[in-house]
Amino acid sequence: RRDEHWLTLPNPWDIPVDICAGERVPLEPAAVDEVLSVLETAGTLARLAGTAPGHGTPRLTRLVLTPDFHKGAGIPIGTVVETEGALLPQAVGNDVNCGMRLEVTSLTVEEVRPRLDALERRLRHLFFEGGRRIALTPVQREALLREGLPGLLLTGDAPWQGYQPTDPGDCLDRMHAPAHPAGTAGAFADWITSAGSGGGASHDSIIGGIGGGNHFAELQYVARVHDASAAYAWGLTPGMVVLMVHSGSLSLGHQANATALDGLRETWPAGLPRPLNGILPFPLDERSAAARRRYLDAFGNAANFAAGNRFFLALTMRAGLAAECGRMTARLVYDAPHNLFWQDGDRIVHRKGATPAGGHEQMTGGPYAMWGEPVIVPGSMGAASYVLRGHGDPRTLASACHGAGRRVPRGATARASDRDLDAFLREFRVVTPLNHRDPAVARRADVMAAWRRDLKQEAPWAYKDIGPVVSSLHAGGVAAPVAELRPLLTVKG
Ligand code: 5GP
Ligand code: MN
Ligand code: MN
Repeated sequence: RRDEHWLTLPNPWDIPVDICAGERVPLEPAAVDEVLSVLETAGTLARLAGTAPGHGTPRLTRLVLTPDFHKGAGIPIGTVVETEGALLPQAVGNDVNCGMRLEVTSLTVEEVRPRLDALERRLRHLFFEGGRRIALTPVQREALLREGLPGLLLTGDAPWQGYQPTDPGDCLDRMHAPAHPAGTAGAFADWITSAGSGGGASHDSIIGGIGGGNHFAELQYVARVHDASAAYAWGLTPGMVVLMVHSGSLSLGHQANATALDGLRETWPAGLPRPLNGILPFPLDERSAAARRRYLDAFGNAANFAAGNRFFLALTMRAGLAAECGRMTARLVYDAPHNLFWQDGDRIVHRKGATPAGGHEQMTGGPYAMWGEPVIVPGSMGAASYVLRGHGDPRTLASACHGAGRRVPRGATARASDRDLDAFLREFRVVTPLNHRDPAVARRADVMAAWRRDLKQEAPWAYKDIGPVVSSLHAGGVAAPVAELRPLLTVKG
């Protein structure tokens, strides 16, 4: 049922399902089917409750879909799931604490544009040719994984010597307060000391990998301001260059989810059939306490790593800018996760590919109490991105979309023509690990074909139009646009 900006899905469980999407936002039928299948988890929870009476009843209470929602692995990307008495690791997504980070620099687009060729070479070197020097000692790595960036700061010696100076706000008060599940901070999953993302216990490990696919580090500029007061307060004046980072926990998040799946299978009651939709819950009872603990340790480590990784990716960008454009400073606007869960007593809000969009009432004390929570919505490497301010709308459980969202499944976009790709590449600057400007590389037809195929999956035609997506958020009362950002250069893992 579509009313003006919303679609509601009636269902036999009578669970409120709200899809924030105006008429001009394309919806993938396969993703809608997936939503209906997620609802079967209501039945799963009821069956689980029957196996241990007296533990309170785990329930699925609400589902929200953001305008960028599209088919995912079992649960669509762009889904918010609210439960009582149950934790659903699969409703968080594999890449734990994947998120967006936005910084505003002191440089203008006029200063940066003429230097883009040199900047491209510099950033390729920094990101992909061993030019990056940020290394964590084992002590620093452990502090980051246990306690996040605040923990890392406490170790003293900053691993970012020679990079742009940072102020503590970069690590603390301008990040979404992650509100980790109770007791997570301080734990250290035992497998991490010997495995994880690069480097064993005794070696310095390099941090700041982008990760493949949709992840990126991008230079943009403020092209248009929609809300002059909020934009001014956040330092977003027209013509200023900003940097946006999208990255997650690399292999650590996958490890955390593997840990969850082991625990979920182990604690599933013998004799009870497994749910057909493949979604296995942890009821918040004693039976699963030990398995949940193992998961939450790994989860907390991965989440802390991801936020640190975004910080270091931004520093690498700053270093490139400073080297090519001269003295500059950068300041964090916001860092927000879109694959995480938030627990308040028995109630858990899971966001998988959805970003928090709190209103100013929810932002007590921080620098956003006046305007609401910044909502970062990237479009694609060939389209505009937006920053909005959240309204804390209860209908979306104070959530918004975290991007434009895929328009078509990955494979389908590969069929775009080479001419379209060339036109795109002439207009937009993309830095990838493969240096296609190197004549030796350009001669290798097979290598170039693979590179072109990958780029086609990420080009603007692979994503929904950002305009209608942002209008739906606005018209639906979820968040209001503050500034439109346009890309100058995109670094893709
Ligand atoms: P996800 O978190 O689901 O991997 O993707 C987030 C969103 O980022 C996508 O839905 C897409 O709209 C956006 N996106 C993907 N690649 C790029 C890019 O290179 N640049 C920008 N600005 N946005 C991108
Ligand atoms: Mn991710
Ligand atoms: Mn992501």
